[in-house]
Amino acid sequence: MRVKNIATEDFINYKEPSMFISSCFCSWKCCIEQGLDIGVCQNAPLAQAEIVDIPDEAIYELFVNNPITQAVVIGGLEPMIQANEVISLIDYFRKNGQDCPFVIYTGYCPNEIPKEINLLKQYKNIIIKFGRYIPNAKSKYDEVLGVTLASDNQYAEQIS
Ligand code: SF4
Repeated sequence: MRVKNIATEDFINYKEPSMFISSCFCSWKCCIEQGLDIGVCQNAPLAQAEIVDIPDEAIYELFVNNPITQAVVIGGLEPMIQANEVISLIDYFRKNGQDCPFVIYTGYCPNEIPKEINLLKQYKNIIIKFGRYIPNAKSKYDEVLGVTLASDNQYAEQIS
């Protein structure tokens, strides 16, 4: 999978210790739709980072060899632009007997990505955080993720 970064341990995006994978691309919809500069996006600096193509097998080994992490979070930029690569990674984990939660942070709403949701639903234990980032909105604690999300329009759903 092409990534911007992998943090082998992350404690702020899900209730369980997680490996955090930063995806590579975004259309900057959250900013553009609100007439804001893309620099407002908290992930904007990541756009400058180099893209690295890491074999799914290597990501899997990184995860299973760390006894601390219990889940994989795939987040900003926008993972759904690489949905085929996200699905390949999940497929590799599941074929190797690893059923850990996969948490996908998308800025899209469900009606914008029905095909991707249906493809992801074929795998067990998938959670998606939906919704745009709205600067200056109130933050909101999300029960599914067990963390506070940046804006109160955002929410997570266990889709499988
Ligand atoms: S989807 Fe994520 S990376 Fe893209 S503009 Fe929104 S918050 Fe920023």
